[in-house]
Amino acid sequence: MTTGLPRQEPAGRGRSTDPVLEVRDLDVRYGRGRRRRRALHGVSLEVAPGETVGIIGETGSGKSTLARTVLGLVRASAGSVVVAGEEVGAYGPRQWRALRRRGVIQYVFQDPLRSLDPDLTVGTSLAEPLLVQGVTRDEATRRVRVFLDRVRLSADLLDRLPGELSGGQRQRVAVARALVTEPRVVILDEPVSALDSANRVQVLEILKELRAAGVALVLISHDLGSVAGVADRIAVLYRGELVETGAARDVIGRPRHPYTRLLVSSAPTLRSGPADRAEREALRAALSHP
Ligand code: ADP
Ligand code: MG
Repeated sequence: MTTGLPRQEPAGRGRSTDPVLEVRDLDVRYGRGRRRRRALHGVSLEVAPGETVGIIGETGSGKSTLARTVLGLVRASAGSVVVAGEEVGAYGPRQWRALRRRGVIQYVFQDPLRSLDPDLTVGTSLAEPLLVQGVTRDEATRRVRVFLDRVRLSADLLDRLPGELSGGQRQRVAVARALVTEPRVVILDEPVSALDSANRVQVLEILKELRAAGVALVLISHDLGSVAGVADRIAVLYRGELVETGAARDVIGRPRHPYTRLLVSSAPTLRSGPADRAEREALRAALSHP
């Protein structure tokens, strides 16, 4: 990243060319006994250093479950998760705390109120992950200002509480907080879904800058259109399974799976040629009778 800060060895055990995130044959089930439901089935995904991967799927397809499993908040029933060369699948709470403290992998949830402590000022919230790492208070203050600037927020906000900010400002604080430790990969779960269109454009611009700066991003969205301009690769999740993964331009230009075709033809900004309602109806029918 181009923070002007001294960059140490890449955090984590992997070499700098190894994937920053590897998910293999992930299965996640919720509930017990007869109420047991499978939320993810056989999901495999790799994210290379600096790569932006969009994960697209409708509500309930398992996107947040995937994010939460990768972050150790949900336990997989099968499969493995490797973060920066470390197999984290069997990690307990203490090991996860240690991994989080190192700041190798960070996250932004859909609702910024969940990513931010409502009782901490912006300044404290942003400095905290650095102070936990043993960075001096002066250095933390300096870096907080650098990252606040990167998400285009004024230093005037440092003393405010999350509740005193607009939705767009809160989301940008959450992004800055995820960045201060200079993680190798950031998972963003619907980062622009709750934002109005002006803020959406601005946050997507910030994400593009991060991508250019070499941070790997996993960009989760139910909206293919909003991710299309940022992602290098797109993975399509349908009913808990990845049905299609490829370069963004191929997935959008030549979608193979009927569900991806439906997504592409339903995204107003992506549709080429006249909207073909009949085709969409046919795809929907094909999907409901597999
Ligand atoms: P998405 O983020 O794509 O909307 P989720 O990962 O939130 O999808 O949900 C996937 C499926 O798992 C849905 O059927 C949802 O109802 C179910 N689910 C999610 N979280 C839980 C939970 N904590 N307990 C039981 N079922 C859950
Ligand atoms: Mg979700």
